[in-house]
Amino acid sequence: DPHVAKFVYDFTEGNRDLKDLLGGKGANLAEMTNLGLPVPPGFTITTEACKVYLDSGEEPAALRDEVSAHLDALEQKMGKKLGQADNPLLVSVRSGAKFSMPGMMDTVLNIGLSDASVVGLAQQAGDERFAWDSYRRLIQMFGKTVLGVDGELFEEALDDAKTAKKVTVDTDLDAADLKKLVKQFKKIVKSEAGRDFPQDPREQMDLAIRSVFESWNTDRAKLYRRQERIPGDLGTAVNICSMVFGNLGPDSGTGVAFTRDPASGHQGVYGDYLQNAQGEDVVAGIRNTVPLAELEQIDKKSYDQLMQIMETLETHYKDLCDIEFTIESGQLWMLQTRVGKRTAGAAFRIATQLVDQGLIDEAEALQRVNGAQLAQLMFPRFDDQAKTELLGRGIAASPGAAVGKAVFDSYTAVKWSRSGEKVILIRRETNPDDLDGMIAAEGILTSRGGKTSHAAVVARGMGKTCVCGAEELEVDTKRRRMTVNGTVIEEGDVVSIDGSTGKVYVGEVPVVPSPVVEYFEGRMHAGADDADELVAAVHRVMAYADRVRRLRVRANADNAEDALRARRFGAQGIGLCRTEHMFLGERREMVEKLILADTDDERENALGALLPLQKKDFIELFEAMDGLPVTVRLLDPPLHEFLPDITELSVRVALAEARKDHNENDLRLLQAVHKLHEQNPMLGLRGVRLGLVIPGLFAMQVRAIAEAAAERKNAKGDPRPEIMIPLVGTVQELEIVREEADRVIAEVQAATGTDLRLTIGTMIELPRAALTAGQIAEAAQFFSFGTNDLTQTVWGFSRDDVEASFFTAYLEKGIFGVSPFETIDKDGVGSLVRSAVEAGRATRPDLKLGVCGEHGGDPESVHFFHEVGLDYVSCSPFRIPVARLEAGRAAA
Ligand code: ADP
Ligand code: MG
Ligand code: MG
Repeated sequence: DPHVAKFVYDFTEGNRDLKDLLGGKGANLAEMTNLGLPVPPGFTITTEACKVYLDSGEEPAALRDEVSAHLDALEQKMGKKLGQADNPLLVSVRSGAKFSMPGMMDTVLNIGLSDASVVGLAQQAGDERFAWDSYRRLIQMFGKTVLGVDGELFEEALDDAKTAKKVTVDTDLDAADLKKLVKQFKKIVKSEAGRDFPQDPREQMDLAIRSVFESWNTDRAKLYRRQERIPGDLGTAVNICSMVFGNLGPDSGTGVAFTRDPASGHQGVYGDYLQNAQGEDVVAGIRNTVPLAELEQIDKKSYDQLMQIMETLETHYKDLCDIEFTIESGQLWMLQTRVGKRTAGAAFRIATQLVDQGLIDEAEALQRVNGAQLAQLMFPRFDDQAKTELLGRGIAASPGAAVGKAVFDSYTAVKWSRSGEKVILIRRETNPDDLDGMIAAEGILTSRGGKTSHAAVVARGMGKTCVCGAEELEVDTKRRRMTVNGTVIEEGDVVSIDGSTGKVYVGEVPVVPSPVVEYFEGRMHAGADDADELVAAVHRVMAYADRVRRLRVRANADNAEDALRARRFGAQGIGLCRTEHMFLGERREMVEKLILADTDDERENALGALLPLQKKDFIELFEAMDGLPVTVRLLDPPLHEFLPDITELSVRVALAEARKDHNENDLRLLQAVHKLHEQNPMLGLRGVRLGLVIPGLFAMQVRAIAEAAAERKNAKGDPRPEIMIPLVGTVQELEIVREEADRVIAEVQAATGTDLRLTIGTMIELPRAALTAGQIAEAAQFFSFGTNDLTQTVWGFSRDDVEASFFTAYLEKGIFGVSPFETIDKDGVGSLVRSAVEAGRATRPDLKLGVCGEHGGDPESVHFFHEVGLDYVSCSPFRIPVARLEAGRAAA
């Protein structure tokens, strides 16, 4: 009956595509079995059986009989019975989930040994020592893994035995010593677990199976899954595998191998081998292993066979594989293989090597790497040979290695960096006022906040190193110093922070630049003789991606310098030029004047002063991006961001009044600040609303753009500005702004004799805009999805506030796997994007569609934007290669 669940698969029945059901280990054991490789026979209990057990607390009813049937078959095949006194079959009980969870769940070897069968094993193998060594291993592993006895107790007893005999390695213990040890081990079990070590082999096996099921839910396993974002309900499979023995003497042994170097990707002989050993001895560092190459001298026949098998596996899996094997009296056995983990650099190298070998094509090569790996390769690193003094540890918020003098406020950061100093900005937490300081600093260090704190989000956006939430740090901004476990760091003391590990060091740790960035910057050429292999591989993979991707990639950049860098990194335009950054610093005063203006004259004067400055900014930007589109967003943030802080100003005014020192300007400013003060500034007077209530503001910006474009045109340039109106909620807003803009543009065209072909579009960043996208498209030539604001408004929470209050709790409870500000929330925000795309295109088939904001450089989000059919994504210059790569992967 096909409807009866099947809970057990023989190794000959499975294959590598059944990882969901058989786990990674089981699926690959089956695959190797079917490839005809020497795998000890066995069978796999499915993850479905585990799920039933975890849900109900009991094994599924059919499981026992199915296991019995498969065990019978195995016994027939091997000509032995499990634990049979005179000729025992022994098995290992091995966990194996779909995703490898190293060290999470333990394997028990030598199941089937008992006081009776150990004698049979000794006779059968003609080796007493070996039999008792196997038995003591079983009691040790079973005691620890299945019965929950503290493993240290066994280790101590083993050490005592060696000390008593004045030997250092366990192979120097003879049969008599091991017999004694078995007695002791059994005593430990009895006293610690409150029961005897089970003598019935089937009971051993059943208990071990159950304990593998249960190990799915240990705290360590849960923590690992959460960190790696592995779903919690997959369950684990259990593999029952007949034992082969690496501890049968010097012509036996056990080892691990890689088909190529997981660090460099080079093909060769990589691995370790340990003679006369079993199981994990090789990784446990109990005795010294030898490099795999030496196996050729020890056992040429097995070595040659292993090399042959490695080649078979590579050609079959078309990838780097790692392998666990055992040699029993000169006979090689394969115990595990899987596509191996590798460093980010090796991933790129291996992908191109496999293309060269004709094993995979370019499209497949793109699937062998990812944007996270590329991003990792783009950060400078601390020299790992260097001596360091660890100061403390925080959350690795934005990778990279930064060294500089400690400063505790934004002002000092800017001042010192202007005079050529490298600084690390250290704050309890950061806020938008720290932006200048963050830009000036090499890196940012905070004592509060998590991965979605202001510091972390902004730093990641800027590609700047950041360690946040380093709670041991007591930051004292008043006294300009911090104390960490008794060590005091004063302003000016040098510190080093590692954004990839979260570690903070005292003093300067030497940094090595990323060759990949040198390459993107054009300082290193992949074709040149001295080209690094890694750079050559990255160069090729990027070319694969660029050839297939459909999404274009633009940059978020506000100035010529960033724009030029973005171009070098492959940007095909600017998707977001924020104009508010052009109003900061020295120009803040002019903005104040604009805000304070009482009369039309005052207002026009203020705008008149800003116009030439804006125009100059745009000329530089259009020149840097000559021939490519530049989307300029008109002023967006609430005006209070340009005014002094309300508390500071109130105090200043109060003090001045007390001194009878009347300052008219400050008083007016304070009034304005009060007037503009809002409870929810992000939902207040900002974006298009500013343009509609402050006469002349948007007109001035449009004029600056148009005049700059005209000037570039007349200088034989090819400017391609696109004017973008932020925070539109209804088409009427856009229509009013457009009318004015069209008029200004016409004026400039007439005055300069140019045909500017400016386009005007809008951001879609409010739910209402998304819901009425069909109407809005009537007045917009393009949409750019502002997914940051859209996420805030769709969820109804403010990014600046939620991080500290409840995001951590949400992440811990699994409500989010990842912050919706990092990766687009496909079901909610994403579905609005999808329907707005459809409605917009229905109104205007040639509507250009893009996205700007954090998500534009996030790998998973890029795939989503590809899928919904956007024309481009825009992200910070540093993320451009990542977006290019992911856009290629999405299309391949
Ligand atoms: P892990 O998932 O921790 O790698 P495994 O199930 O692969 O655990 O077991 C660890 C080691 O135990 C294997 O690498 C192998 O050396 C040994 N081992 C497992 N099963 C057998 C077996 N049937 N015969 C001999 N050795 C085994
Ligand atoms: Mg293993
Ligand atoms: Mg916005």
